Amino acid sequence: MQTFEYSRPTTIDQSIQAAARAKTAQQYADIRFVAGGTTLVDLMKLDVERPNQLVDINGLPLDQIQPAPGGGLVIGALARNAVVAHHAVVQRDYPVLSEALLSGASPQLRNMATTGGNLLQRTRCVYFRDTAHACNKREPDTGCSAIGGHNRMLAILGTSKNCIATNPSDQNVALTALEATIQVQGTKGKRSIPIAEFYLKPGNTPHRETVLDPGDLIVSVTLPPLEPGTRSHYLKLRDRAAYEFALTSAAVVVNVNSGKIKKAHVALGGVGTVPWRSHEAEHVLQGQTANAATFRKAAEAAMKDAQPASENGFKVELAKRCLVRALTVTTQTA
Ligand code: SF4
Repeated sequence: MQTFEYSRPTTIDQSIQAAARAKTAQQYADIRFVAGGTTLVDLMKLDVERPNQLVDINGLPLDQIQPAPGGGLVIGALARNAVVAHHAVVQRDYPVLSEALLSGASPQLRNMATTGGNLLQRTRCVYFRDTAHACNKREPDTGCSAIGGHNRMLAILGTSKNCIATNPSDQNVALTALEATIQVQGTKGKRSIPIAEFYLKPGNTPHRETVLDPGDLIVSVTLPPLEPGTRSHYLKLRDRAAYEFALTSAAVVVNVNSGKIKKAHVALGGVGTVPWRSHEAEHVLQGQTANAATFRKAAEAAMKDAQPASENGFKVELAKRCLVRALTVTTQTA
């Protein structure tokens, strides 16, 4: 049995100080903030995560959802996924986020899971979750069992010879299309990180998934204001209609005027090692007529660098059709 220390601070500073008590990198790595626990506790039961210290942040005042000073919305890191999904302003101005959240997990999990925790959700690669198998993400330099193994669910974009795991989150795909920023507080102070710079592709260090430093605490996520007339939508394709991870998904944020696409943000889920922003697709869409031919061209561009593994080649065409459908639905209602 792995024992661990448990603390429940009531202020952000206390939480950071609790994490800062670790003096070495290894000790830092052994400290985990826990909120909803919907990923972490699972992984502790599987012996994949073995923290020596759990800092329970549920007592912190970080569950508010409020207007941002310059427009937009600030979502506290402890705002539960269900609360965010049903928030009136999110549903009115950022439906892509509401739809993404409601497409994920189950009602029970959404009642517990938090905005900050979802940002740090870990991969569902079966080998990562099974300590009997080699996994570079779980234990660096031990090998990747998924390459040449069961990889049907795994990534086709942003992969490396060391890891092809997908980022499993729906929320993070929507936040990527919305160009959210993540506010972090740590031992070195506060900083804001654009979501485009938050995640790290696996490269040679698949165990490093974000730019967070040990002890960094996510305190909130800010959604920027959107131009009037902007529409957004999240479409998720999966093996069953509920409680399932994406084979592929598309988050689109589009502004169409007189049939022409003024602006389009495209992010894809289920296919990338990180929530996948497709600037290639956006470039094709920009300024063009919103029609099926344009959308297909954008989808081709989004997938041009796809590198399927042995079992997930089907994702290339599926992702294209998913994006075309998402764009079609979004612009039909524009
Ligand atoms: Fe581990 Fe990544 Fe390989 Fe899965 S794909 S076994 S997470 S290294």
